[in-house]
Amino acid sequence: MTPANSASAILIAALLIITLGYVASCVLWPFKACRTCNGEGKFRSPFIRAIRLCPACRSTGLQPRAGLKAWNAYRRLHRTNRRNR
Ligand SMILES: [Zn+2]
Repeated sequence: MTPANSASAILIAALLIITLGYVASCVLWPFKACRTCNGEGKFRSPFIRAIRLCPACRSTGLQPRAGLKAWNAYRRLHRTNRRNR
C-alpha cells in the first residue's frame, strides 16, 4: 500500500465517520431552535413591544435541520415517483 493510498483511505474513512455521525445526530435531534425567535416561538415587536407569534416556525420554536430537510425532500421525490408509475 503506497502512502497516497493509505492517506486517501484514512480520508475516506474520516468522511464516512463524519457523515454517519451527522446522520445519527439528525435521527436523535431532527430539529434545531428557530433563529428568528431563538426557540421561544414568540418575540417582542420592535416598536409597540407587543408579543408576536413567530411566523418562521409557526410559534413552535423549532425548525428542521438540514439533514431532515434533505430526507424530507428525498421522501417527497420518492413518493411522487411511486405515485406516477
Ligand atoms: Zn421561531
